Amino acid sequence: MHIFAIANQKGGVAKTTTAVNLAAALTASGQRTLLVDLDPQGNATMGCGIDKRDLKSSVYQVLLQMAALEDARVMSPSGKFDVLPANRDLAGAEVELVDLEMREMRLKDALAVHEADYDFVLIDCPPSLSMLTLNGLCAAHGVIIPMQCEYYALEGLSDLVNTIKKVHANLNRDLKIIGLLRVMYDPRNTLSTQVSAQLEQHFGDKVFKTLVPRNVRLAEAPSYGVPGVLFDKAAKGAQAYMAFAVEMIDRVNSWKDKS
Ligand code: ADP
Ligand code: MG
Repeated sequence: MHIFAIANQKGGVAKTTTAVNLAAALTASGQRTLLVDLDPQGNATMGCGIDKRDLKSSVYQVLLQMAALEDARVMSPSGKFDVLPANRDLAGAEVELVDLEMREMRLKDALAVHEADYDFVLIDCPPSLSMLTLNGLCAAHGVIIPMQCEYYALEGLSDLVNTIKKVHANLNRDLKIIGLLRVMYDPRNTLSTQVSAQLEQHFGDKVFKTLVPRNVRLAEAPSYGVPGVLFDKAAKGAQAYMAFAVEMIDRVNSWKDKS
């Protein structure tokens, strides 16, 4: 089981879009996948076709050990993968976890029980470096960082990288940055291509080969509760996320070959 947190403390950089579409693309490629929604906004939950207002229990109850993961997970009717859903209840977890022991390890512990159930677990983190994101980073083997190729893209990246370093040093020796994913990419925009080239220079093979283009079909899909890769399979954005799934599967297999 490989666990990846999709994180960036900026909002609107396609974390959720990446989480939902990568989960659907991995599933379509035969990988047993669980998507964990760690954002109280519940956008990943809704984007998978699950109504966040209508949950028996959610990731909130799992973090507070009021429900087991197997009782809270729901299958995405459109994507056919499991989702540990979220809604506004989760906003309270931040405060409620503060006084609890091993509060950063709650998600890790919940997932450990299901080691044999999944090939991939993807964690959609909220746009902050909060206790929720910390739970995501402590549970994960690696971080996928979606980034827009714009002028301010690198600003804030150092905060995230420092947080990841601290978590690695103090809480989770397994954690590493898997890669930066360039999203909402527009090849006709000179700034986009320049920033993209800078990223490659700075971060080398930490930059994924796949480029996700700006594509309106990806933005339309969530309102139908269907992952973009299934909503319009022929669209450029859908094809990019299918290619990204292949790239992720290759990455994971290359670790197996080495060990
Ligand atoms: P985050 O989870 O980081 O806040 P979202 O995944 O919710 O970001 O994306 C922010 C907005 O951008 C959403 O409206 C989403 O539909 C849109 N979006 C994401 N990726 C793309 C893309 N490749 N092309 C066009 N729109 C996109
Ligand atoms: Mg989001």
